[in-house]
Amino acid sequence: MGKILIIGAGGVARVAAHKCAQVPGTFEEIMLASRTLSKCSQIKSEINKKTGRKIRTAEVDADDVQELVSLIDDFRPDLVLNLALPYQDLSIMDACLKAGVNYLDTANYEPLDVAHFEYSWQWAYKERFRKKGLMAVLGCGFDPGVSNIFSAYAQKHLFDEINYIDILDCNAGNHGHPFATNFNPEINIREVTQAVRHWNKGKWVETPPILDKDSVHFSFDYPIVGKKESYLLYHEELESLAKNIKGLKRIRFWMTFSDNYINHLKVLQNVGMTRIDEVDYEGKKVVPIRFLKSLLPDPAKLGSNYTGKTVIGNIITGFKDGKKRSVYIYNVCDHAESFKELGAQAISYTTGVPAMIGAALIVNGTWKGNGVFNTEELDPDPFMSALSKYGLPWKQVEFKGKLPD
Ligand code: NDP
Repeated sequence: MGKILIIGAGGVARVAAHKCAQVPGTFEEIMLASRTLSKCSQIKSEINKKTGRKIRTAEVDADDVQELVSLIDDFRPDLVLNLALPYQDLSIMDACLKAGVNYLDTANYEPLDVAHFEYSWQWAYKERFRKKGLMAVLGCGFDPGVSNIFSAYAQKHLFDEINYIDILDCNAGNHGHPFATNFNPEINIREVTQAVRHWNKGKWVETPPILDKDSVHFSFDYPIVGKKESYLLYHEELESLAKNIKGLKRIRFWMTFSDNYINHLKVLQNVGMTRIDEVDYEGKKVVPIRFLKSLLPDPAKLGSNYTGKTVIGNIITGFKDGKKRSVYIYNVCDHAESFKELGAQAISYTTGVPAMIGAALIVNGTWKGNGVFNTEELDPDPFMSALSKYGLPWKQVEFKGKLPD
């Protein structure tokens, strides 16, 4: 029996809070704390209606370490589940160290003023968590998170040596809006407009961003949803998997984008609406991407008319017993079914469920360790079983298709 403090009350936090409430044997007490208390209260009342459980709520500024420490000291959770934004990762990790509690998040740290993310800032906390006898688990959503777990599972059970990993993230859903992002618009747009990198033969190789006419893309035939244009993109799990999967020669990440999404984003970028620096507007300072966020649909509320499915998984190639093999491990999640279960679209669902599973494995003592870990460094087996149990069943098939060289 344990206690969890969830920080953030957006689309992902809402799913994680609902899922934690469904596992009372592990999460005996739940507190949901965020910047806007009314959003926590709304989720609290939904959970009460659905499960009869009473969770606690609080208002907190997660950029303020002292405020966080006071909240943690007051509630004394076993784990803080950070589902705020990547900007808050370091302040929440600092607070966990000060208050002496474990930590888990779903996205790596990103400074507010530079659209750049990498693990070095959070890996630098390894020794401090180790010395305090605490565990911090990084990137435990779907991708990163399940994509790392699929790789660890393949390394443990399916291969003697892994040489190539391609992570393919397809959202074949339709939300009915002219343009919307499936998670926080500011974070999403910063991520997808970056220069693209993948790892090949021990080096990072840079290719043009997805909006560039020379971007790298191909049509992949996904299970169930069929052919979709998939773009090479930099994603944070490439960094940790390149380090932690032995024998790896190349790792790439592909994401599907519709022509409609690409065209809208191109225009927004061309007119300066994706800028992350302050501009003067009628005597006020405005950050264009934040203004844009305020105009776009809230990803947490996209679910009601969302149809279609997400298909996210890894194609892993290597050797087993001297023979070359390629295995595709993937999950298919249906937007409408996620909405029926929790009133959420599939991107929030596929992120919130793994976050709850990772949190449960730490709170119930299945995942143990002192220091800072990426999910592929931990035992994938209990996580893989839990995925099927809590709504994200996965499939494993021999892959016979072809990927670009
Ligand atoms: P939202 O913007 O919907 O939610 C973020 C929440 O954090 C909001 O409730 C927001 O408060 C709160 N918040 C922001 N700043 C602070 C602060 N200083 N103090 C307290 N609370 C704060 O985002 P999502 O739910 O879409 O995404 C949540 C996280 O999940 C992001 O980090 C995202 O990158 C990650 N993610 C990971 C994925 C994966 O597969 N690994 C996939 C999708 C998302 P307010 O309500 O007041 O705005």
